[in-house]
Amino acid sequence: MSNYTERVLKMVKDRNPGEVEFHQAVEEVLESLNPVFEKHPEYEENGILERLVEPERQIIFRVPWVDDQGQTQVNRGFRIEFNSALGPYKGGLRFHPSVYTGIVKFLGFEQIFKNALTGRPIGGGKGGSDFDPKGKSDQEVMRFCQSFMTELARHIGDKTDVPAGDIGVGGREIGYLFGQYKRIKNRYEAGVLTGKGLDWGGSLVRTEATGYGLVYILEEMLKENDLSLNDKKVVISGSGNVAIYANEKVTQLGAKVVAMSDSSGYLYDETGIDLELIKEIKEVNRGRIKEYLEEYPEAEYSEDYSDIWSIDCDIALPCATQNEMDAVGAQKLIDNGVIAIGEGANMPLTSDAVKLVKDNGVFFIPGKAANAGGVATSAIEMTQNAMFDEWTFDKVDQELQKIMVNIYKNASKVAAKYGLKGDLAAGANIAGFLKVANAMLDQGVV
Ligand code: NDP
Repeated sequence: MSNYTERVLKMVKDRNPGEVEFHQAVEEVLESLNPVFEKHPEYEENGILERLVEPERQIIFRVPWVDDQGQTQVNRGFRIEFNSALGPYKGGLRFHPSVYTGIVKFLGFEQIFKNALTGRPIGGGKGGSDFDPKGKSDQEVMRFCQSFMTELARHIGDKTDVPAGDIGVGGREIGYLFGQYKRIKNRYEAGVLTGKGLDWGGSLVRTEATGYGLVYILEEMLKENDLSLNDKKVVISGSGNVAIYANEKVTQLGAKVVAMSDSSGYLYDETGIDLELIKEIKEVNRGRIKEYLEEYPEAEYSEDYSDIWSIDCDIALPCATQNEMDAVGAQKLIDNGVIAIGEGANMPLTSDAVKLVKDNGVFFIPGKAANAGGVATSAIEMTQNAMFDEWTFDKVDQELQKIMVNIYKNASKVAAKYGLKGDLAAGANIAGFLKVANAMLDQGVV
């Protein structure tokens, strides 16, 4: 690291004690930026990094609600409005018991660069709560969402800050949140949230977008290296939104998914996972992946979900959560001859795992690039809302493909320009950084 990046990283650690995921995300980006600061002293002269690592605004609030037993419950709500150099803050809401400032800041920081890579005019933000929707009734989830939005509403708007879903926040939650926003504001401001229902301002392909986008960029990378998805064996962790639609698209393109997981364990079906059954278990019934065995008793199930990486495969797509693949998992994949790893989740590989994967010549697509299809399609949803228009599935899907191919080309071109040919992670960090940093330079010290 250069003096400049080291100094800023130290400042981040001192100023945000204990926020280890945030430190990890900042360190990973800063490490790749050294060649940029050698060429461009103007960024340091204008304090770009110091400003970039400090959120423009951090909102933490109480979320009181009443459960089905009549008991008052209190959760904590967050919205980190990180950077608005390119457009309104944009990023999802995560409802999971592990949520605290360190998680929301790491996600918000990543989001700045990811959103820049999409080429759409959106800034970076993220939010959520330590509320756990698992095991709650629809009524409880609704009361929680209404209370959460009662506070959040004053901070967001279609030109200010546009939240969406993430872990634990899907179509049901977005519906309740939107209903409460509309009630408070007395405005049908469709563009204030994305991931809406198709009958009330949502976009076709948004549900599929992150998983499909991951596969589009993977396909492009393989193509550039004279490879294809045909007949490849794939392991996907998670069985939520990203995992399900990554499975759907790789399968359509000729690969076979042999394993998926949830936070209780993983499933291995050597004949290929029956995705329709997974959708029924996870999307319709909100059940556990283990229930798959009731239909396919010959499939294997293990409660050690982190051991999913010991399964022999050509391609691994971690699509569950941060730091879900450590160096041990990465080494198992390498020993089994894995060709490529694409991060469907945000920061699913630990820093050690990333290093190992890169050192062993495995093709690696970082989350910022690999899962940008979700937010890119959210931006397309905002475009349709602003135009009072509805695009066809094919039109949105083609636009998504174009964006993912562009992200790949842009990140590889920039990596090569800075002497890091083939390092897509560095290319994505630098390309995203340059776009945001130049906008910040143009806009003065704000
Ligand atoms: P979902 O809530 O739909 O699914 C998450 C999946 O991961 C579930 O199968 C869940 O298991 C599993 N999981 C969650 N936490 C853990 C944990 N601590 N350990 C093991 N497994 C876990 O979320 P998404 O699919 O939307 O998000 C997955 C990842 O993709 C996240 O990192 C998110 O930030 C990222 N992402 C999502 C985007 C989107 O458009 N949805 C866009 C870009 C990135 P269980 O069912 O047991 O809870």
